[in-house]
Amino acid sequence: MLAAEWAHQACLKDTQVKINSEFTIIKKYLSGIGAAYLNSNGVELAGGDDCAVLATQAKLLISTDTSVAGIHFLKSMQPHAIAYRAVSTALSDIAAMGGVPTAFNLSLVIPTFDPSWMKDFRKGLIKISKEHKIPLIGGDLVKGPLQISVTVLGQPGRKILLRSGAKHGDILCLSGVLGQAYMGLKEFKASSLINAQTKPYLFPKAQVGYAQAIAPYATAAIDVSDGIFQDLSHLIDQSNIGCELDLVKVPVADSLYQKQCLEFGDDYQLLFTVPPNKLALLQSKIKSMGKKCHTIGVIKGTRLKILNNPFKTIKNWDHFR
Ligand SMILES: [Mg+2]
Repeated sequence: MLAAEWAHQACLKDTQVKINSEFTIIKKYLSGIGAAYLNSNGVELAGGDDCAVLATQAKLLISTDTSVAGIHFLKSMQPHAIAYRAVSTALSDIAAMGGVPTAFNLSLVIPTFDPSWMKDFRKGLIKISKEHKIPLIGGDLVKGPLQISVTVLGQPGRKILLRSGAKHGDILCLSGVLGQAYMGLKEFKASSLINAQTKPYLFPKAQVGYAQAIAPYATAAIDVSDGIFQDLSHLIDQSNIGCELDLVKVPVADSLYQKQCLEFGDDYQLLFTVPPNKLALLQSKIKSMGKKCHTIGVIKGTRLKILNNPFKTIKNWDHFR
């Protein structure tokens, strides 16, 4: 091993010093969450041993998402919001594939042990566990700068929605308004309140039901986590095709902040493509769920072309791609 690698390993060891009472804390605050859903989701063993045991003979969707304090969320957020948000943003990737979440795993790094913080954090885990009927099946607890890493498992639907399936002529659709997270964060920074405006940022919703409804008709999908330009670029790159995006058609939470609403991300809406002959069917299904499907562009050409673009520069978008 090179000297630099030794130094790196030594540094890792130093930050991975376990909290003395790790097992007591895990037992008290991180056990039994979603225990009611273990059997129905094929979990034979959750926690208490070296691994969780899942009974599965079918395909499994797996994704990990790490949220770091000060980067992905504010330290000033209530612990239950921090917990909910970290799990929900991870679940959004299962939704984006048209899957149903079955369980989650959690690695929690905390700077100090504060019982009231842990109690409130547990509340957030229970809330998201109940909403999606998923158990917490394991993880670990480490001392260090606050961060949460969540691994989610899911069962694929009849069709797995990939980023790579968009075809020439497909209609580009969006599941909801963009910028509610941006406006929510702005409001939370000013007021620290949990209200209708801050909730979309504090408690984002993974679009699980929506994705399952569109899966039979959609050709490709991605969740909008990094802003529409970036995520749309991923979708068309993976599909090896271009797109004409009409910004006038993209609904934003506040037109005064159109640019921020489009660029910020964190809304976890779904961006997806559907062949024109299946659009009416998809839209009527979505309407029957009381949801909306915004048509915002067409898959065509070889690059991303933006219509009605009032901006000189766009973050996360390379004009020369
Ligand atoms: Mg994603």
